Amino acid sequence: MSDCLFCQIVAGQIPAKVVAESDDSLAFYDIAPQAPVHVLVVPKAHFMSVNEVTVKHPGVFDDLMRLAQKVAEIEGVKDSGYRLVFNVGRDGQQTVSHMHAHVLGGRLMTWPPG
Ligand code: AMP
Ligand code: ZN
Repeated sequence: MSDCLFCQIVAGQIPAKVVAESDDSLAFYDIAPQAPVHVLVVPKAHFMSVNEVTVKHPGVFDDLMRLAQKVAEIEGVKDSGYRLVFNVGRDGQQTVSHMHAHVLGGRLMTWPPG
């Protein structure tokens, strides 16, 4: 997907501050952080959303979740706690149509989210 922002980041065509990577996933800092720790974890292959990946490609989801946990460890929030968020589709306010997890931490999260 040449016009997809996160595909371009995975391909190294748009710069990002990489935190960690695995065979199938890449983690990089969000450009507009909503918390002291705000990292995005994306599959290297293009999937529009969680809807597309969980049934057909469960291995991708598994790999992404493992990397998200590694990010929490690297960023020092594994024990203090963190929030994993997948925004999905219109009502979920997903703005980039390449599936991604937000790893948010470093402060007390409010509930419910706005
Ligand atoms: P969502 O609203 O769940 O689709 O999240 C998209 C996220 O991508 C937002 O938190 C944006 O701040 C973030 N974002 C947009 N462009 C970039 C970029 N070039 N590098 C890093 N993060 C980005
Ligand atoms: Zn993409």
